[in-house]
Amino acid sequence: MDIVQVRDLRFKVSIPEATLKARIAELGAQISKDLNGERPLFLCVLTGAFMFGADLLREITTDCEIAFIRVASYAGTASTGDVKQIMGLTENVEGRSVVIVEDIIDSGLTMKELLALVQAKGPKDLRVAALLVKPEKLQVDLNIDYCGFEIPNDFIVGYGLDYDGEGRNLKNIYTLIPPMKNIVIFGAPGSGKGTQSDLLVEKYGFKHISTGDVLRAEMKAGTELGKTAKQYIDEGQLIPDDLMIDILASTYDALCPCDGVIFDGFPRTIPQAEALKEMLAKRGAQVDAMLELQVPDEMLVERLVNRGKTSGRADDNEETIRKRLAVYHAQTSPLADWYEQEGKRNAIKGYGEIADINAALCEVIDAI
Ligand code: AMP
Repeated sequence: MDIVQVRDLRFKVSIPEATLKARIAELGAQISKDLNGERPLFLCVLTGAFMFGADLLREITTDCEIAFIRVASYAGTASTGDVKQIMGLTENVEGRSVVIVEDIIDSGLTMKELLALVQAKGPKDLRVAALLVKPEKLQVDLNIDYCGFEIPNDFIVGYGLDYDGEGRNLKNIYTLIPPMKNIVIFGAPGSGKGTQSDLLVEKYGFKHISTGDVLRAEMKAGTELGKTAKQYIDEGQLIPDDLMIDILASTYDALCPCDGVIFDGFPRTIPQAEALKEMLAKRGAQVDAMLELQVPDEMLVERLVNRGKTSGRADDNEETIRKRLAVYHAQTSPLADWYEQEGKRNAIKGYGEIADINAALCEVIDAI
């Protein structure tokens, strides 16, 4: 599987199992050659290096021993930089060749502590075998005798490495995919949702789901869905929730994975908002912000009547516009309070310069 979910985060394969295996075989061959006849003691650092240690040992062809030590320095996705506990070095290493087996070296602080600890016990020779090294993160001078892969400063899981305790069982190494942003752009018909969505798509590379556009495409293509939708749209009414919710889920899944999605024209009712919340939760995501464009009604009518001169939309005539606004106030505007209670609502003045409105929206998105 190329993409996996571990707890609330998504990861993509960065080092496949076969590549790991091939490189570990090379490391094993090199170490066996360098320490031939030395009866090395491999000190495997728990917990992360257990898999690497097990596979590396199977590639060692000279007599050897393995022992385990345990240190803790990670909380969540960032190194705390201090080694919290070291325990378990009970073996006598005096006069022996010792190889510390570590899964990953980033700041190098843990390894430095370990080296000092083992060195103090008088080994004849002390080496480091690390599967992964993050050169950009190294804060100390370290001599890493055997390095599997140099990797960028991304958060990774799999092959023994965890994210908050999970993901160690994965056979490949995976890199974090930055969490997607899900943004609801909200407001009455004519409030500028489409215009602002286009600008946000351009700036952030997000995908844009306009349920109105989806329905108009269906109408144009003359599908059954399009025919059903037309009856409601021509009357300025909303399409039934269950139909809209299905359409939304399939449209969303077709666009993902991506950096983010802007929901424009959905949700329009509280059941739709609840369905969106549930749909995103099932996918390990959430609505990150609701951006509400506030525009007075008379300005909306004027904008839509003007738009109707060129939009070609049958529902952009004054009579239907007034019906759509009435439907908005009755069925959709209560969602503002719903999102307020969810702690997601951001009200923004939706008139004035387009660029100024956009800047206000970007400020919210940048703070997510
Ligand atoms: P819009 O382009 O967003 O103004 O949508 C045009 C019309 O499509 C609306 O007036 C509704 O009839 C229908 N529509 C779009 N999105 C939804 C939705 N989420 N729920 C119900 N009807 C919708």
